[in-house]
Amino acid sequence: MQISNKGIEILSHFKEDMGMAIGFEKNGYLFNYYDAEWQQMPKVAAILEANHVNFQLLGPDQVEARIPGLRCGVDHIDPEVRELLGLEPIAGGLFGADCGSFDPSQATVGYFERAATDFAARPVVQLNTEAVALTFDPAGRADGVKLRCGGTEETVAAGIVALCTGPWTNKLLERSGLPEQDRMPIISQKRMLFITDFPDQDPRWQTIPLTSIDQGIFFKFESGSLMVGKARIDAPDSLDTTFEPDYYVEEINLVMQERMPITARCKLKRGWARRWAPAWPSWSSPASTRASTAPRSAGAASRSTTWCRKPTSCREASPPGRGSGPRSRRGPPRSNPAPGRSSGGPASRVRRSPG
Ligand SMILES: Cc1cc2nc3c(=O)[nH]c(=O)nc-3n(C[C@H](O)[C@H](O)[C@H](O)COP(=O)(O)OP(=O)(O)OC[C@H]3O[C@@H](n4cnc5c(N)ncnc54)[C@H](O)[C@@H]3O)c2cc1C
Repeated sequence: MQISNKGIEILSHFKEDMGMAIGFEKNGYLFNYYDAEWQQMPKVAAILEANHVNFQLLGPDQVEARIPGLRCGVDHIDPEVRELLGLEPIAGGLFGADCGSFDPSQATVGYFERAATDFAARPVVQLNTEAVALTFDPAGRADGVKLRCGGTEETVAAGIVALCTGPWTNKLLERSGLPEQDRMPIISQKRMLFITDFPDQDPRWQTIPLTSIDQGIFFKFESGSLMVGKARIDAPDSLDTTFEPDYYVEEINLVMQERMPITARCKLKRGWARRWAPAWPSWSSPASTRASTAPRSAGAASRSTTWCRKPTSCREASPPGRGSGPRSRRGPPRSNPAPGRSSGGPASRVRRSPG
């Protein structure tokens, strides 16, 4: 929590400090909970307070007032559908007003530009270059990287090697000859985001917080559209990024339109799938149905690899270009108000289909 607070502070002053606009928008995060979890909220609130987190606890009326069309009760839902989907009344919401999103690619460019001018040893960015394998000294410590750029290969010696290859980390370690037990405690899961129309012309859509509702479904304003997502907790360890529009229609919108009937009009415009690298296969643990997975790539050391600082392969410094990947976020820990219940494709029981 203190790291998050510090992050918010840094992001708030990023432009003045680093001379780079990163589009940090504090629209807030609103996590909604069923009664069983809401009962635990006093304990959570005490921890948040002790860590100086800026938050508010909202009752159902206050939640409904913030999110157009959201109904905290369940009386409007067909009892059979309610049971099938495991929907319960929302008892309250945890709102973090300082939370928001920013452009991490721009932030990275800001740091590189600063490093290029402020550090005696200039950082080097080498684009279109693949790390083919790590090299190790006789004691098993990483002491270099074998690189491939076009048809050219070179091995760069290094005092310390930082692995920042996200979901591909274990592939690289495997190619480097590390046995399975020495690889990273991470897997790669496909995650998708969906861009839809707004349900109506209500101006509040422009300023809604990122809101999480049933079954871990979340949505936020994103450049004039609604961005919707839901982690598939049991996604296999895979580098696949095939986009599945049906996941939105069958697994997300069918549930969302019960909680917010107007979202039956939220027609899918586009979306994408990328790789998410949680620590260990969260889907194999008993608590996995509740857990949201924290991103953690290359954060823990394997026995034979050390981590990081110096780019020793030196060509001309060039900051990376602006990316189009998902934005990072800061906020209270994620939670699923309706943990563990997958709708399991309840198409036959539930009504409308968007678009
Ligand atoms: C759909 C989706 C939504 C997300 N939303 C959020 C969010 O709202 N907030 C949040 O904080 N996080 C979010 N995340 C997670 C966030 O994107 C990741 O935690 C973050 O990108 C991890 O950064 P990284 O630098 O460790 O790894 P990555 O961003 O995966 O970067 C790894 C890089 O290494 C490169 N690479 C891999 N292998 C090699 C090799 N052998 N040689 C050279 N280069 C290599 C890859 O090309 C890639 O560019 C989301 C992720 C997904 C998929």
